[in-house]
Parts: sequence; C-alpha cells; structure tokens
Amino acid sequence: MIYLDNNATTRPSSAARDAMLSAIDELWHNPSSMHRPGQAVRRRVELARASVARLINASPKEIVFCSCGTCSIHTAIGGVFAARDDVAAPNLITTPIEHSAIKAISNKLEKQRGVETKLVPLTPGGVIDLDALEKLIDDNTVLVSIQWANNETGVIQPIEQIGRLCKERGVLLHVDGVQWVGKMPTNVGTGSEEPTGPAHDDAAGAWIDMLSFSAHKFHGPKGVGGLWIRRGTRIAPVSPGSQEQGRRGGTENVPGILGMAAAAEECLEFLDDPAQRPEAARRRDRFERAILDRVPGSHINGPSDPALRVWNTTNIAFPRLEAEIVLLMLSERGVCASAGSACSSGSLEPSPVLLAMGVDPASAHGSVRFSICRETTAEELDQAIEAVVGCVQQLSGTISG
Ligand code: PLP
Repeated sequence: MIYLDNNATTRPSSAARDAMLSAIDELWHNPSSMHRPGQAVRRRVELARASVARLINASPKEIVFCSCGTCSIHTAIGGVFAARDDVAAPNLITTPIEHSAIKAISNKLEKQRGVETKLVPLTPGGVIDLDALEKLIDDNTVLVSIQWANNETGVIQPIEQIGRLCKERGVLLHVDGVQWVGKMPTNVGTGSEEPTGPAHDDAAGAWIDMLSFSAHKFHGPKGVGGLWIRRGTRIAPVSPGSQEQGRRGGTENVPGILGMAAAAEECLEFLDDPAQRPEAARRRDRFERAILDRVPGSHINGPSDPALRVWNTTNIAFPRLEAEIVLLMLSERGVCASAGSACSSGSLEPSPVLLAMGVDPASAHGSVRFSICRETTAEELDQAIEAVVGCVQQLSGTISG
C-alpha cells in the first residue's frame, strides 16, 4: 500500500508506540495522586510537556494538553470569548477555508452569545486578502483565528503579516497549526533556550497568541492535541477542572501525552536536519510535476509555486472527472489519497474549501489531495504516478468514448 493521505492522519512512529505502551503497562497511575507512583507519572507528563514545548520553542507552562486538534481549537476560541463579557456585540474574524472545527465553535458562539463571525475573502490561490482583513477589524473584534496551512491544499497563510496587523489593532490571534506544527519550523519565542537550528527558523510565531496542534498529524497518537497559550492571554476554561493549571479539566491521557512527546522529539530531529525537509519537498514537487506533464488539463489547486504550500501536500484537479471514482480506482491499485477533508468525505459535494478559493465546480469535483510524509520514498511516488496517470487515462477514455 502506498499511503498518500498523511493530512488525514499519519502512522504513529515506533518511538511513539513504545512510549504509549510503556505508559499503559507501567505508568498507569493517576498523575494527580500524591503517592510515589502517581508522582513518577506526573514527572513523566511534565517531561513530555517540555518536549512538546521545544517543538514550537515555547515555555512548557504555556502548553495545555487537549484531546485533539478540534478540542484545542474549541478551548482556545471558546475560552477567549468566555473571558470577554465586557464586549457587548463581539465578533470573530476567520476565513471560509478553515477546518470544520472552527465553523462548529463559531456557530455555537453565535447561537449562545450572539458572536458575529466575519469571513476574510481570499485572493486567487487561496491566500487571505490582507487589506480586507484590515478593514474587517473593528472595535468589537475580539479574536482573529486563521489556519497556518490548509489541510486540503497545503496553502500557507502570511501569519507574520496577519499577526502584526492584529497587534496594531489590539486584537488576539489564534492560529490553527494542525497541518503546520511538526512539519514546518515553528518558534513562538517563549522557550528558555535560544534556538539555533532550522527547526525554529520562523519569525511568524512571535506574533501569535494561541496555537493549536494535534499529535496524529505528526506521527503521534490520535486523541491528544496541544494548545499553546501565550502568558498573559485572557482566557477562561471551557472545560473547567483542576488539571492543566485549571485550563482544561480531566485526568490526563498519559499514554497519548507520552506518545505525542516522543513524536515531537522526532519531528525536531527531522526539522533540525537541513537536508531532510528540502529533500521531502523535492519528492513532492517531482510527483506533481510528473502528473501535470502527463495528464493534459490537470492543474494544481493553490499557488503553482510549490514553496507557497506546505512541502507534503499537493491538490490536483482533473476537470470532468469525479474525484470519488479516481479515489476508488486508486485504492484498488494500492494508493490511498483523498478528496476534501477526511471529516467531510463520503459526500459527493465538491469541497467547499476549493469553491471558496475560486476553483470552478468542474475542477473541484475532480480534485484529489495527495499528502506525503517524511518517510514517503521516491520509489513509492514513482509507482503512485503510474497509478494516477493510468486511472485518469482510463476514466478520460470512458468519458470521451
Ligand atoms: N485543523 C486542521 C487544519 C485539520 O486538518 C484538522 C484535522 O484534519 C483539525 C483542525 C482537527 O484536528 P483533530 O483531527 O486532531 O481533531
């Protein structure tokens, strides 16, 4: 099987698996217990927090463990609005291409608190229109929430410019980094050590107030996510309790947390190696180039410059074809890919993300997302190219015949 659906989830690494198994077998005591085994587990959870914090160069005290990326997003956005009952008619600014987790919490806030959601328009290619964002911010704007990288296209948003704008206007910025953290350098700048390697070669993090991420997108386990909250950010707990310094209640998922930390350490090694990420990017670039060259009429959804998309993602439109059929045929030939986000697949509607980016409906219907990981080999991609070209040629023959 050639797995090119890493934006849906990644395979847990063996280090993550070992850490989880040892937590299940040996570190099963409650980290809030006073006794010796409980305190031993507490120490391991705190070491894990430090590893996860290092991945984004944050202070460990600012990391809140959550149950997934969705939970992290809801804790951040819900928590900020829960803390701001001083604004009579508050609004949230976000984009039309966010993950459904953002839409779910904004709908809830609208119903329960009358929070208005404003959507920033996109420029062709899927990057937000910064002038439009500036105009949308007003005295009632409490929070701007924007994804760092899109799950369907890999398009990267200009977080540094967005963050500068938010600071000028005194508005908080939450970033959904679920498809970014672990794959790209991240530096929120509150870690105790001065970072030296490429893993933290990033200027945008300094402008962010809250960052959401999820372990299963970077070879960690499912069911555990992280929320980084910059010290001093006003936020109330959405799920109150004594754990996580009162910011998220509930006994910690110790196996998940230790698995996430092991995965974070490996991501740091990957990111700190100056060769590995560019090599992985070249594999993706070669894959997409080969398909575009061999399939007439196919094109990339998003900027054609691959550097403007996260190194692991490519979303290719095969106009006139139905993505679902392409995916089923690919699956029969041993290639796993997807269309739209995993959460909304199973529907025959074209992806709302692609439509919001201005992709025409015929192309959106026939668009397939391929997402590689750091372990995807050139040989696997060569086989996948043959499978994709073969499927598309067969289907195109059926249409024209
Ligand atoms: N945000 C983005 C951009 C995502 O791609 C996903 C998952 O696909 C999420 C949030 C939700 O993360 P989780 O699956 O951990 O809840």
